[in-house]
Amino acid sequence: MNTAPVLSESGRPVQPGSTPRDTPRENVNPYHIALEQLETAAQYLELDPGLHEVLKYPERELIVHFPVKMDDGQTRVFTGYRVQHNVARGPAKGGIRYSPHTDLDEVRALAMWMTWKCAIVNIPFGGAKGGVVCDPRTLSHSELERLTRRYTSEISILIGPNTDIPAPDMGTDAATMAWIMDTYSMNVGHTVPAVVTGKPVAVGGSEGRSDATGRGIVFIAQEALRDNGISMRGARFAIQGFGNVGSVAARILHEIGARVIAVCDAEGGLYNPNGLDIPALRDCARREGSILAHGGGDPITPRQLLELDTDVLIPAAVENQITLENVHRIRARIIIEGANGPTTPAADRILQERGVFLVPDVLANAGGVVVSYFEWVQDLQFFFWHEEEVNQKMEKILIRAYRDVREMARKEKVDMRLAAYLIGVKRVADATTLRGFYP
Ligand code: NAD
Repeated sequence: MNTAPVLSESGRPVQPGSTPRDTPRENVNPYHIALEQLETAAQYLELDPGLHEVLKYPERELIVHFPVKMDDGQTRVFTGYRVQHNVARGPAKGGIRYSPHTDLDEVRALAMWMTWKCAIVNIPFGGAKGGVVCDPRTLSHSELERLTRRYTSEISILIGPNTDIPAPDMGTDAATMAWIMDTYSMNVGHTVPAVVTGKPVAVGGSEGRSDATGRGIVFIAQEALRDNGISMRGARFAIQGFGNVGSVAARILHEIGARVIAVCDAEGGLYNPNGLDIPALRDCARREGSILAHGGGDPITPRQLLELDTDVLIPAAVENQITLENVHRIRARIIIEGANGPTTPAADRILQERGVFLVPDVLANAGGVVVSYFEWVQDLQFFFWHEEEVNQKMEKILIRAYRDVREMARKEKVDMRLAAYLIGVKRVADATTLRGFYP
């Protein structure tokens, strides 16, 4: 059981020394889960208790409440967050999520996972995350622009090309990043492309960034399949979430000859054991706003998709999808975590006992932040690379990280998540120790 402090879901400040509540059911608070994962790694690494304590807490947390003029003339107040977990290895890096369900604990967890992810793939960033409590699907284009510009101004005391560099996450995209770049630049009086990544290529974005997370998942899947003696040609994939991550992974898997047998978004999905026509599905989603209008498969719910008989399952939507409630019905042989935090620790243990090969989020979806790093480097140098170069460099970094983690798992006889944490947490702990504590 983790002995880390419980942080309130309502966003109260961290209370050092408090203890977790005992709950009879599974604790699905993402920050508690992140703390439990850290605890497991800290025990294994025999981390100094003081250092462990330092790593439990985000270094900085900003909560903002800000007004936005809506199209009908009314004023609405929105709540946003920006959390920096650790900056020992470099500037803070992490996406911004627009979701009605986001809260401070979710942003804290996502920020901590970013710290480990950047360390596991060995890029010189710390971890951060941001979020605004809103449903972007219910806001007009101009309302979203005003919300983004005001939120950017509110968090501009933290963000900057040398301090904290946001990127897209759920509910945000390249257009959102262009507004963030423009707003920050207007406030400082000159154009600062490196303040944010995931921008359109026309305003300093990198070739290959929009596909990077999905493409990275495919690089990782190729390694995982090879390790498990499964051929990619004809291998069956089920993908939950058809956004930036899930739809791109589906497209590339389809292109390289894998069989994507099921996909879904929040409303539902489609299943066809012979394989879905992914290009047609993507066209349909673009045209109709939903994949459900496409008739190429049987309707399926997001929960049913998780339980399909498939070689590989890619959860690429939200947290807490594989839990104690459904883990016994999961039939995939390999799970590649495209989303952040899709598996609870209790479900994780059961999957491990059953011999399911799971590649954790902090490794599997790191392609996005790796190419974000490339975008930042290109922006700082005002010198841009071709997509082929971007993809090759990403592949090299991801495959090296995957093999390091696989090697650690074999050597220590632990699962891939703990192996990844042993590498990531150790790198962050070492950097923190080497720098020492100011003053
Ligand atoms: P997105 O907003 O582009 O797409 C999210 C998709 O998930 C949509 O299809 C949505 O309908 C679906 N969805 C939402 N709730 C669902 C539910 N309960 N069941 C099934 N489907 C549901 O978001 P994204 O950028 O693709 O991010 C997805 C996940 O990947 C998130 O966990 C995010 O943190 C993670 N991630 C994203 C990136 C990136 O570069 N965008 C990088 C690393 C990790």
